[in-house]
Amino acid sequence: MVARQLAARGIRDCRVLAAMAWVPREWFLPPHLAREAYDDAPLPIGSGQTISQPLIVALMTEALAPRRRDRVLEIGTGSGYQTAILARLAGRVYTIERLPDLLVEAEERFRRLGLTNIETRLGDGAAGWPECAPFQGIIVTAAAPGVPTPLTEQLAPGGRLVIPIGDLAAQELIILQRGPAGLVERRAGGVRFVPLISRLAFTEEPWT
Ligand code: SAM
Repeated sequence: MVARQLAARGIRDCRVLAAMAWVPREWFLPPHLAREAYDDAPLPIGSGQTISQPLIVALMTEALAPRRRDRVLEIGTGSGYQTAILARLAGRVYTIERLPDLLVEAEERFRRLGLTNIETRLGDGAAGWPECAPFQGIIVTAAAPGVPTPLTEQLAPGGRLVIPIGDLAAQELIILQRGPAGLVERRAGGVRFVPLISRLAFTEEPWT
């Protein structure tokens, strides 16, 4: 996976490649999908949610560029796969998920992997985690129509925020960095994520 799907397609950051080689993706899937764990694709994780394609996880992690001492906020724990990658690279990871069943399963995986630098919270991640702000990195792994204001407010000077912005059908990966003159935006191509469900994003799941 690391050589064929990531390095060969432009992922250059050795720390990101090493973290992705370390985390066993099969542990983050329902048992009947374990054989597909290294497919070049997103996969279902239950409750109508997905684990992202490895390339997208790598691209978002590389764009976030977490360093050893950073505090990183992740919105949308899902299976916990992206969280585990971040925990290998950052000082502490704060992750928020709205679906209790997914969060309980992810917490069990973190324990099994011995990842002790992860804090979890059940709730609406669009509000961020103000008590622990500011964050050097914020990553949103669900699609939003715009950047929720609490997240930009909780971004540290020099910090980066990575988020898919668009409608329910398709989004663009947006990277915001807080510079001396304000937020600077960069675009990193098209993506497709499940929606961020929040009064600050999409208010209802499209299938309900
Ligand atoms: N990063 C995850 C992984 O590695 O498995 C995949 C995340 S999945 C594409 C998006 C997740 O965002 C889902 O688990 C969904 O329940 C969660 N989500 C949606 N809206 C949310 C919200 N407002 N707050 C927190 N989590 C939310």
